[in-house]
Amino acid sequence: MGSNLEKKPHVVCIPAPLQGHINPMLKLAKILHSKGFLITFVNTEFNHQRLLRSQGLEALHGLPSFQFETIPDGLPPPENTNATQDIPSLAKSIEETCLGPFKSLVTRVNASYAPVTCIVSDLLMGFTLAAAEELGIPEILLWTSGTGSLICYNQFTNLLEKELMPLKDPSYLVNGYLDTVVDCIPTMPGIRLKDFPPFIRIIYPGDDYMVRFLCSQVERARRASAIIFNTFDALEHDVLDSLASMYPPCYGIGPLHLLEKNIADESLASFKSNLWKEEPECLKWLDSQAPSSVIYVNFGSITVMTPQQLVEFCWGLAKSNYSFLWIIRPDLVIGDNAMLPPEFVTETSGRGMLVGWCPQEEVLNHPSIGGFLTHSGWNSTLESISSGVPMICWPFFADQQTNCWWSCNKWGIAMEIDNNVKSDEVTKLVVELMEGEKGREIRKNVIDMKNKAQEACIAPSGSSMTNLEKVVQLMHTFSK
Ligand code: UDP
Repeated sequence: MGSNLEKKPHVVCIPAPLQGHINPMLKLAKILHSKGFLITFVNTEFNHQRLLRSQGLEALHGLPSFQFETIPDGLPPPENTNATQDIPSLAKSIEETCLGPFKSLVTRVNASYAPVTCIVSDLLMGFTLAAAEELGIPEILLWTSGTGSLICYNQFTNLLEKELMPLKDPSYLVNGYLDTVVDCIPTMPGIRLKDFPPFIRIIYPGDDYMVRFLCSQVERARRASAIIFNTFDALEHDVLDSLASMYPPCYGIGPLHLLEKNIADESLASFKSNLWKEEPECLKWLDSQAPSSVIYVNFGSITVMTPQQLVEFCWGLAKSNYSFLWIIRPDLVIGDNAMLPPEFVTETSGRGMLVGWCPQEEVLNHPSIGGFLTHSGWNSTLESISSGVPMICWPFFADQQTNCWWSCNKWGIAMEIDNNVKSDEVTKLVVELMEGEKGREIRKNVIDMKNKAQEACIAPSGSSMTNLEKVVQLMHTFSK
């Protein structure tokens, strides 16, 4: 390596191996690169291969100052190499197998590339803290979910102690028990058990691996030097404040995709992180639609639904009479024979566009988009806010229920669809969102929030810009 590069501080960035985690970590890595850091970005071998297939060599080709590396995730190769891996198996495998390969990797790049001055790891990759401690390298964590959900995960032990979970039997899922208000969280008054990450909905004596996994990750995070949140102060100020008493310094540096646009180097524009192949033709179709006339439907990278739920969404959209762009991932519907009702395809031809994966940030910024029917993934929520698009939420798992609660109850930028989705409700909410009084109100709120997100990321004195500078300063102290 050239001697100039060797003098730069060197950061190893490692995301959790999931789409919603790789995206924000890659953006953070690009931002740090623009601040003068050398970057080693670590994917799992499985995802590296998928990225090569969906994006081509360019996406991972690297530069002298930004290189890509891999570690194994420990799982046998799955049958469908184009689908999301099973999350509990992945979490277990990572815990059991990744520490050794990660330590070897850091030791190798430390010797052969440049001395590693800091590790930036996804908070859910807790084994990296052990590696950092053994190698004597400081570590900063990135929390890629909604900040409020970290507070919920911190309450898991409390819920167990109060015997609010596990559930006593399956009837507790439907008998109104999940409406119980959990009143021990000052920043979230009125939050119910059903708004918590649904990992808690285990039925005694069911498998509680994910609960134990999450409790141990949020506990371990206290040992980091700092935690970065993909958020901005105006959105989650109270929650960030309340985390300050439990954790090392917490910084809201987001939305990362806005900061990336604002400050990342053009030379890194070809580095992309889509695990599925994008179908950009849908943007052309959007060009042909009237302003604010299209409802955009996308449930992210992990949500799955039953064939019956698919049919309810189909007829709900059809009966709304609005145009829609619906992203139906190849593995979205459970079962091999799931298909769209042929009458639905005929009836909506001309006003319905269906594709497998899209450039979501561009779609949400397109003037023809009037609303977003989403699963409330954190990245999708931030991207919708940043584009000023109001939402209808159908949360599936993890932090999505909590994000949905914040969006609907605290920020007033969304409406929720019942988990037991029915076509009439879909139609009613789509029409309300696009032309009703409530729709107008939440549109106004989300546009206010969009302006605050822009202020945080674009003005040099914006909160996310200022927090970024603080973290950069902290990282520079590590290399002295
Ligand atoms: N995404 C995309 N195209 C798609 C679907 C999703 O680019 O068709 C991106 C989206 O912009 C977001 C990420 O994938 O950045 C999904 O993350 P999110 O947290 O919303 O949900 P998850 O997939 O983790 O459930």
